[in-house]
Amino acid sequence: MQYVTLSHWLLDNSPVHIGLKKPEINPNSQISRGDGYNSYIINVENHSGTHIDAPDHFLNNSKQISNYAPNELIFTNPIILEIFKGQNELIELKDMVGAYLNDADCIFFRTDFEKYRDSDPEKYLTQNPGISPEVIYWIRENFKNVRCIGIDCISISSYQNPNKGKEAHLNAFKIDGNLGESLLLIEDMKLSEIKNGDLKCVIVIPWQIEGIDSAPCTILAEIE
Ligand SMILES: [Zn+2]
Repeated sequence: MQYVTLSHWLLDNSPVHIGLKKPEINPNSQISRGDGYNSYIINVENHSGTHIDAPDHFLNNSKQISNYAPNELIFTNPIILEIFKGQNELIELKDMVGAYLNDADCIFFRTDFEKYRDSDPEKYLTQNPGISPEVIYWIRENFKNVRCIGIDCISISSYQNPNKGKEAHLNAFKIDGNLGESLLLIEDMKLSEIKNGDLKCVIVIPWQIEGIDSAPCTILAEIE
């Protein structure tokens, strides 16, 4: 068995949503200063770096990330959809034509916008593509095995389309008799080094912090 990560390391200059506090990772005890050991103090917002959004992010008093059992964070039929998108574009229903989702329990959207994460962080944060609310609703309505959606850009919300972005999040989380269970959303994923056929199983490991809506996470993928 071979594993790769589909999450980015968190650095103090990791790109984070506009308006969030930059991550701070500061030395505390340091051997170089005469202390007996090395340690650090980290101060980050919970939506920093690769992170997983749970329903409580947009729906007060709903499921927080600590309310998920480990089994709910393991996906044995993950698929990657390669739908390349440029700046400010949304993944629309017409992009889903031909996608085979019947067995999927998790869908990762590879937009290829990840290429700007290091080379042009400003563009990565302010021109990102997103997922239309209609696509989220359609997935929940028609593919009830799907429990998680991920994307290789800073958010499923296009920064320039905030209303659509909010609606997309609400469509992912809201309770509705026509729809399958609420989705989890993984944002700021690392998908550039993986192809669809490679994936066998995905394990999402959020930071184990209680009382918060969502959390940074490590994503392990078992590959062929
Ligand atoms: Zn988020």
